[in-house]
Amino acid sequence: MKKHIFPIAMALTIVSGALSAPSIMATSKYDAQFASYPTYNGDDLEVSVDGNGTHFRLWSPKAEQAQVLLYSQGAYGSPYSTLDMTFHPADGTWTAEVPENLYGKFYTFRILNNGVWMKETPGVWAKAVGINGNRAALIDLSKTNPEGWDADKGPQVDNFTDVIIYEMHHRDFSMHPSSGIANKGKFLALTEQGTLSPDSLKTGIDHLKELGVTHVHILPSYDYNSVDEANPQLNTYNWGYDPLNYNAPEGSYSTNPSDPAVRIREMKEMIKALHDAGIGVIMDVVYNHTAANDDSNFNLTAPGYYHRHWDDGRYSDASGCGNETASDRQQMRDYIINSIKYWTDEYHIDGFRFDLMAIHDTETMTQAAAAIKEINPDAFIYGEGWTAGDSPLEPERRALKENVSKMTDIAVFSDDIRDAVKGHYSNAEDRGFATGKPGLEETVKIGIVASTAHPQVDYSKGANSKFAYAASPEMIVNYVSCHDDLTLTDKLKKSIPEASEAERLAAAKLAQTIVFTSQGTPFMFAGEEIFRDKKGVHNSYKSPDSINAIDWAGKKTYADQFDYYKNLIALRKAHPAFRMTSADQIARHLVFDEIDSEKMPNLISYSLKDNANGDAWKEIKVIFNGSAEPRTVNVKKGKWTIVARDGKINPEGLGSFKGGKIELAPYSALILHL
Ligand code: CA
Repeated sequence: MKKHIFPIAMALTIVSGALSAPSIMATSKYDAQFASYPTYNGDDLEVSVDGNGTHFRLWSPKAEQAQVLLYSQGAYGSPYSTLDMTFHPADGTWTAEVPENLYGKFYTFRILNNGVWMKETPGVWAKAVGINGNRAALIDLSKTNPEGWDADKGPQVDNFTDVIIYEMHHRDFSMHPSSGIANKGKFLALTEQGTLSPDSLKTGIDHLKELGVTHVHILPSYDYNSVDEANPQLNTYNWGYDPLNYNAPEGSYSTNPSDPAVRIREMKEMIKALHDAGIGVIMDVVYNHTAANDDSNFNLTAPGYYHRHWDDGRYSDASGCGNETASDRQQMRDYIINSIKYWTDEYHIDGFRFDLMAIHDTETMTQAAAAIKEINPDAFIYGEGWTAGDSPLEPERRALKENVSKMTDIAVFSDDIRDAVKGHYSNAEDRGFATGKPGLEETVKIGIVASTAHPQVDYSKGANSKFAYAASPEMIVNYVSCHDDLTLTDKLKKSIPEASEAERLAAAKLAQTIVFTSQGTPFMFAGEEIFRDKKGVHNSYKSPDSINAIDWAGKKTYADQFDYYKNLIALRKAHPAFRMTSADQIARHLVFDEIDSEKMPNLISYSLKDNANGDAWKEIKVIFNGSAEPRTVNVKKGKWTIVARDGKINPEGLGSFKGGKIELAPYSALILHL
């Protein structure tokens, strides 16, 4: 039975404390039974191969019997052998072994539960799978490594605020005929050098290098449920927020999903190509729920244990997708930590984006970050600091954005800056600061200071948050759009319908200028640099390629936009003042100019003073005009060099200015320095 798949990553913000009704308990009466389960944290869970043969070890403390079924094929046919497993009550595992190496074979487990044999499952630790992920595969992982893999390494990251994130879906990026890419919609798309649009402009990995982002954030790339890998000609599209096998790559992104090694090798080749280009790879992970409920691999191995429930035994559903997992339970916590350690170690992943992270508890997230950083000190971990529904987990334990300061080495998305700059995500017509809506100036300032405490920011006026929840700018990811909701292009079409395309392009530049000059880590959605749209579809999780694929003809049509984004990124990379690393630095070096927002709405002006964060520039003045009208401001006298004005930007300078009155065009940013 397939669960109804729901869009994920609903940008629902639940304010900490809002759900702390007295009746809410961390553990429901139903879930209390799981506390007594013994746990097992060895690295040989489910299968290991050594000189003595193939060893199976399934964690299932309450199973009445357990079996391994061996197959010669990844799908279809009957098992050629069935092994009865032996129970070890001390750690809740069942074992079986065969004296030979079973590389090339496939296996499933099944358990007897309440006198009934449950469905077969590849288990929860399958690192290789057959087509559509129904059977686990036995392969020699060392043979999946591309040439030079041992020396492969992602970019060094001194501070999280140095990272520039580009969020992309494999199909969106390469599927359109205009991509000029051969392996459309595949991991290998990102290994192709020299690909060009019909206008002979760079696409693919060369485009990423040209743009200058430091990391790509790939939408779910583990094996997910909704795309039929056996029928690629159907061209089914899905974002992939419906996890099936957490530790194997998705087959539809490989050139041969029937061969379990191919998807692994090709994903590694993609990562290596990006690393060779100096670009890190961040993976979107969705441990917060499973695609299926009763038929999930979790439930088929240890019924009930891995999910949370209400007192009456119903699945709780903080994911909005039918269930939620229980990171506060030891075997699940260890599972999440071991899984991301595995991806970091085996695939050289450079960071993780946790979907609906607040379904997980803060302790799990802190432990997870510490475990990853032991393997890769440059790894960056961030997530959505909210849930999409109520949970039995108490709000104070949830990895909410409001609790980010309780965690270590974890960042959260700022929905403050997102909604304030472009307008609220849930109301297409709503405008934001950058599109002429007054009254959001203080919330934009909250974004500019990365939600840290600042003497000139009044959090009581914040639209989404009422206190400085970040102890450091390294805890904040700034953005104005992502795969969820309308693209920035579509949002501008709906929210300022009277505006000309030139005005919408100007507003997009302004919105991203706010993101890329703010403290914290900037994040952008793939294709916005060429004004990519999704034809007004806000929830395109299963929309066809005709909605989701990026049309690279836009790189010529919107060449000016692309140049602006590229130079904006270059400006940020060249100037550490935009990348301060502590709240104290920001409070000392970032000074807002006093503006009466009642009289002069949609105008923000601030300076980054005294060679902030070791910047070569003594003072940087940043002014935003989010109004549809031009605005005149007064800049103090000095030998200023203008670097951004009226929709143009050049870190090398656009001319000099002696101070005094200067006009900002509608929807534009002015940046100048001493
Ligand atoms: Ca799949």
